[in-house]
This record gives sequence, structure tokens and C-alpha cells, in this order.
Amino acid sequence: MIRRGVRGSLASLGLVALGACAGPLHPGLAVPRDAAAEALSEWRAIGRTHQDRPLRVRTAGGGPRRVLWIGGIHGNEREGRIATARLPEVFLERGLGERVTLTILEDANPDGSARNTRGNSRGVDLNRNFPARNFRTATATAGGQPLSQPESLALHDLILDLQPDLILVAHSWGGRTFVNFDGPAEAIARRFSEQSGLPMVRSDEFPPTPGSLGSWVGRDLGIPIVTIEWLRGRDPFDAWVATKEAILTAIAGDG
Ligand SMILES: [Zn+2]
Repeated sequence: MIRRGVRGSLASLGLVALGACAGPLHPGLAVPRDAAAEALSEWRAIGRTHQDRPLRVRTAGGGPRRVLWIGGIHGNEREGRIATARLPEVFLERGLGERVTLTILEDANPDGSARNTRGNSRGVDLNRNFPARNFRTATATAGGQPLSQPESLALHDLILDLQPDLILVAHSWGGRTFVNFDGPAEAIARRFSEQSGLPMVRSDEFPPTPGSLGSWVGRDLGIPIVTIEWLRGRDPFDAWVATKEAILTAIAGDG
């Protein structure tokens, strides 16, 4: 699979290796490495929080498939922080940059993370502040109007700019762990569940989540989104090790 991906990526750039067109790539054939596929950008800010913290993004690889990793959106759910830190390096080591461009949003809610609160510094649950059809203005923690918070607005704009093929978002849950999805992501979530051992739970098994990121991108825009709910308080390194292969499979787009 990876070798085919290499050829496709190189061909799309007009960089097909000598001899590679005639048949399958020979294992020993020297293939010119695609610099974009191995690239890891510096962090850049896509916006700033109420308390002036940067919302940092970096990009790994250069392939045609676009995947967005969100390292957290609830500030008291930081179990994904090691996964977020380690993911780019492993992604590139596996050669996935040939066929995927991975964008990493370090933390959608750094003010909340600094205070260990679910909401941001204004007490708004950013995961209820997106312009989904089910947004509720009357909900106290939803922020009054969609995208009223700089954090949700920056993430909204990032998603519209990237038009990702898949979004993965890190959360945690008190007392249980599972994987959840919105939009056309059932097969991806099921594969993730099989590989990681996290049970797959459907969104309709929970109370409604008006204005959530999943409601907006998954159900309204039709972008596949998979939500990883690690056990609250789980060691972040252990969480990463336990789900690393499932994360990489989802990113690669392997069935
Ligand atoms: Zn959460």
C-alpha cells in the first residue's frame, strides 16, 4: 500500500522514479524522496485565545489526503497531549507523508487547559459553540451565538480552509473509554475500535450535543469525524501507546 502511495504521490508531482513506470517498484530501487512528504512545519498560530495564548498548528507530510488532528477542545481532558506531541514523528517515520498531509492543532482550548476547566476562560464550552443546525442559543455554556469565541472561530476557519477528508479529535470521559463518530465515519470508527480495543459508541446513545464540532462538521458538512474518548485520568503516554496503531491506520485511510 505504501509503495503504491509513493508512486501516486510522485507521479502527481511529475517525479516518477526512473524505471518505476514499467511495473511494480523493485524493493531495492532507489526512489527519490519527496521533500514535501517528509516535511514537518514549525508551529504557527491560527488565532489567539481570550487570554492571548496562541492556537498552534503544524503540518506534517505532503500527500493528497488531508487529515486534521485536534489535540483537545475541553481543557480538563488533556490525555491526548502525548499523542499530539509524538504523532508527527511517527507519521513521518511510517512514510505516511507520501499520501497524507496531516495538520495538527495542538490544543483548541489552551486557556481551559491552563486552568484545567472544560470551558474556555469565559466559561464557554467550545464544543457547543459551532454553527451546527442544532445550535441552541439558550444554553448557558454555548456562548450565546455560534462562533462567539475566538477559539471556535479559528478552528472553524481552519476546517473550511483545509477541507479535511477526516478529522480526529481527542477527548476523555470519566469512568469509561470509547470511540465515537459523526458524519460518514462509521467504517473508520469501527476499524479504530477493532484495532484499539476501545468500544464504538454511536452518538444517538448519548444526550444531544447541540453546537458540537461533530454536529457541525460531521452531520451538517458531511466531513467524517472520529472522537477518541480516553479514560479520564489515564496516563497520556499510555493512552498514546495503546491507540497509536489505530490512529495511524485512520490517518492513512487504510480500511
Ligand atoms: Zn470532551
